[in-house]
Amino acid sequence: MVLADADAQRRGSCVSHPSDASCIFCKIVAGQIPCFKLLEDERTIAFMDINPANPGHALAVVKDHHPTIDIIPPEALADVARTAQRLARAVLKALDPPGLNLVQANGEGAGQSVPHLHIHIIPRRRNDGLMINWQAVPGDMAEIETVYKKIKAAL
Ligand code: AMP
Ligand code: ZN
Repeated sequence: MVLADADAQRRGSCVSHPSDASCIFCKIVAGQIPCFKLLEDERTIAFMDINPANPGHALAVVKDHHPTIDIIPPEALADVARTAQRLARAVLKALDPPGLNLVQANGEGAGQSVPHLHIHIIPRRRNDGLMINWQAVPGDMAEIETVYKKIKAAL
């Protein structure tokens, strides 16, 4: 269940955020569990991933509990994108990797393990074997057109 932070409201001090009591990122936002915090602003927070795909793997997280891309308000998505860019710049400056990937998963089928919207900033190493890349194989144009029509009709 998503509730406003009643404690914060009672304290009348800090800003409360729509949150889910069982969500690990909401707990980090509320300061209930520790993190290697990189930055924080009014609507976003960024910290190190504790299971890094590569050294420097960081997360940009929206403070409000919005699980996925389809339901987050566009303004909140813009906020977290801004934070991801700040992080990406810092990672490039600090670690000088040959490249980095931004990854954002939605739903179990996409490998999302924490249903609270976040963007991974993953510095790459040469031949690091990370399976983010896929091989470009020419598609079947008829199949592409069929799916294209379905998506276009849903816009
Ligand atoms: P995803 O699987 O895309 O939902 O990403 C969730 C990420 O959160 C994973 O890469 C986890 O390693 C990371 N994670 C889970 N719990 C914590 C935590 N307490 N502090 C930092 N990162 C975490
Ligand atoms: Zn949450």
